Amino acid sequence: MARLELTNLHAEVAEGGEKILRGVNLDVESGEIHALMGPNGSGKSTLAKVIAGHPAYEVTGGEVLIHLDAEEFGEDVEIPEDKRVWNLLELEPNERAALGVFLGFQYPAEIEGVTMTNFLRTALNAKLEEREELFEDEEEADEGGDEEEAEVPSPMEGPVDDGEVGVAEFQEILTEKMAQLDMDEKFAMRYLNAGFSGGEKKQNEVLQAAILEPSVAVLDEIDSGLDIDRLQDVSHGINALRDEQGTGILQITHYQRILDYVEPDHVHIMLDGKVVKSGDASLAEELEDRGYDWIRDEVYEAA
Ligand code: ADP
Ligand code: MG
Repeated sequence: MARLELTNLHAEVAEGGEKILRGVNLDVESGEIHALMGPNGSGKSTLAKVIAGHPAYEVTGGEVLIHLDAEEFGEDVEIPEDKRVWNLLELEPNERAALGVFLGFQYPAEIEGVTMTNFLRTALNAKLEEREELFEDEEEADEGGDEEEAEVPSPMEGPVDDGEVGVAEFQEILTEKMAQLDMDEKFAMRYLNAGFSGGEKKQNEVLQAAILEPSVAVLDEIDSGLDIDRLQDVSHGINALRDEQGTGILQITHYQRILDYVEPDHVHIMLDGKVVKSGDASLAEELEDRGYDWIRDEVYEAA
């Protein structure tokens, strides 16, 4: 079990200093599905980007912690007692990912000659290697002495032949994950993003999360622009992430529609850079009926 804990998080636009996040508190545990809803401009995407370490934003207060169990990554990875809590804000985006936080990939461009399979295997190997470095104890690292630090390969650079997970083993993982997601195996043979429809890009995002097996996945408007069939496919995939590998989901959405298929355990409403109200799935239904205005009235009357 892992827990992503946001405490009193404040952030502003790095250039210009416009304040956007004004004290966000949120707790997402693995195995839970949380919906984060709110009107346009309330700061939802900014929150996702700040968790991811996007350079356009400056964090001016608060914390983003990930709490890990001793056996978070299975029995093969022993997590020393002093390395079970990390402040993501002090880490690079790829290190955040290595600790089990999935933030959607910023869409890699179409790259000629790189298949989905190669891209995903490189991404998985990069994550495993980064993770090993994070948990290596300093003494062992020092013994390496003058050995040069290994370059972690970028998944954007195309096929690499080395890495912990070899071609054959990866093929097995991929087959298993695609079966869980009900995805057509042919998808993985395609070239990265070449001619992907909007819906296929979203499915690709879910597949990446299935391969990387994060403890917590932050999905920003993965439902936008999907027709009903694709919405159901993507929803099925999100449920599978939770049910099959225990991933906690922070599902950011403006609309209630996807919540008919991905039933949230908790619903949070964001307004003007803060989570102003939390409840269960019935809160999302109430929003569907009443819109967001009553929340605004409630919050500002109370103030
Ligand atoms: P949401 O995803 O809830 O619709 P956003 O997080 O995208 O909201 O935006 C929240 C507010 O912050 C908006 O008013 C938006 O214009 C502003 N904002 C977000 N990012 C930037 C940026 N990089 N530069 C300037 N303003 C920004
Ligand atoms: Mg947004």
